[in-house]
Amino acid sequence: MATILLIELGPAQNFTGKAWAYGLVADDSTYNTLVGNVYFEPGARSNWHIHPAGQVLLITDGVGYHQIKGQPRQTIRKGDVVKCPPSVMHWHGASPDTGMQQLYILHILPKTEKGIVKWLQPVTDEEYCSEK
Ligand code: MN
Repeated sequence: MATILLIELGPAQNFTGKAWAYGLVADDSTYNTLVGNVYFEPGARSNWHIHPAGQVLLITDGVGYHQIKGQPRQTIRKGDVVKCPPSVMHWHGASPDTGMQQLYILHILPKTEKGIVKWLQPVTDEEYCSEK
């Protein structure tokens, strides 16, 4: 089966720098799961955000950062698995010098009306560069 990938640039209101995304598995009533790929260019990161139903990240290339609000920033690398618990504020992105590629897996709770992501404020340069 041929697959045409529509690669989209993450919108500037939700990302700092360039993050390139494409969907791999669309949500449907059988699997209730959304899977996609994101490549963050060096220095690029998401805004702070929340997933009402949580999120799993599989890091497939490069070096990046992940941080849960109130916890130290974590360095993540190819092969790492990151679990973002439901309704926990966090961000993820590339390291300053090396891009980071991730697969994201989102479980879509049946009948939930909370959505898959709630976007919050940008990660400031100070937050991005701080290890705390
Ligand atoms: Mn996330």
